Amino acid sequence: MSERPLTDSIVSALQAVLGTTHNPVPLHEPDLKGNEQAYIKDCIHSTFVSTVGAYVGRFERCLIEYTGIRHAVAVVNGTAALHAALMAIGVGVGDEVLVPALTFVATANAVAYTGAVPHFVDSEERTLGVDPDKLAAYLSSVAQIDKNGCSNRHTGRRIKAVIPMHTFGHPVDIDRLCDVCQQYSISVIEDAAEALGSLYKGRHVGGKGRMSILSFNGNKIITTGGGGAILTNDTQLAEDLRHLTTTAKLPHRWTYHHDQVAFNYRMPNLNAALGCAQIERLPHMVEKKRRLAERYADAFADVHAVQFFVEPEFARSNYWLNAILIDPAHGRQRDAVLSATHESGYLTRPVWTLMHRLPMFRNCPKMDLSVAKRIESRLINLPSSACL
Ligand SMILES: *Cc1c(COP(=O)(O)O)cnc(C)c1O
Repeated sequence: MSERPLTDSIVSALQAVLGTTHNPVPLHEPDLKGNEQAYIKDCIHSTFVSTVGAYVGRFERCLIEYTGIRHAVAVVNGTAALHAALMAIGVGVGDEVLVPALTFVATANAVAYTGAVPHFVDSEERTLGVDPDKLAAYLSSVAQIDKNGCSNRHTGRRIKAVIPMHTFGHPVDIDRLCDVCQQYSISVIEDAAEALGSLYKGRHVGGKGRMSILSFNGNKIITTGGGGAILTNDTQLAEDLRHLTTTAKLPHRWTYHHDQVAFNYRMPNLNAALGCAQIERLPHMVEKKRRLAERYADAFADVHAVQFFVEPEFARSNYWLNAILIDPAHGRQRDAVLSATHESGYLTRPVWTLMHRLPMFRNCPKMDLSVAKRIESRLINLPSSACL
């Protein structure tokens, strides 16, 4: 008997979880069924819709309370959060920043904004994020350490930071990564844009590096329309970040005095009002997404040549986006699967094109990226809205 085509068995598994639909099922939709309207109305009524207003501080306090990280600075989006975080530790021209090749383009763009060069590193299949052991082996061959810190012995540039990214909400092995980076005096900035609600060894992600960033774009687990935040346990850095993201204006009742070139990156009050309503329902959202992941895991358990991606053993993930990996022997069918699922109304997606393939990053330094390439050729994201 011939085997059932892979495309058919994947479509059936999706049908088992999502039902048959007349309207296409998007990859991710926001859920705005709480106090969103009430808080937005209140915000408009107050006339404080822009960069001053009570909701911004309130949203920051909610983030602090939820994550257990000491400081939060709300900004206009996750990309701006990354840019500000890099600027706050003095990353600039002549520096390199280690970035996973497997990430959303914003991670590498933010490095380029500072004038520094992204240096692409490989991922591991267990977490889909930076592989700390492979990085350690690589650094032992390319990095040299002197009194000014770590530099790349081939390019001569300083390697100032690494930006591990918690892919689809699954935490990287951050303890191990921080150990490696400490040996080389490399700062860790966690790109937790996708990971609000995820735990690493029982604690919220984002508190291990010097800073971490969140995104509240419309497709993330909670949204402020557009928005982001920088989290840190370092009080001085938090003050610097607040200054840097609000035009570096010195506090005074009327004078406009600014002490450095800085950014207008503060989150508007209107967006923060939306955020305050969204975060009230975050625990509920995480529960719903974890339940959806369980249903997918069940439905794909018996599908030949397909693995449903499960959180690493040290994590309790928010399962922001669910993913399947096609077995390497069938990897060439990825595009056929994407096309068959779309035809059936399930708007699946491949993972991002690896950063080193994009024209603007083609000449950047990189290590062996064989695992990231293997993931790229086989991974498919499934519809993941909390309402499913
Ligand atoms: C969404 C996202 C960002 C950027 O966030 P924006 O708010 O869209 O600027 C950065 N990194 C990753 C990994 C993301 O998924």
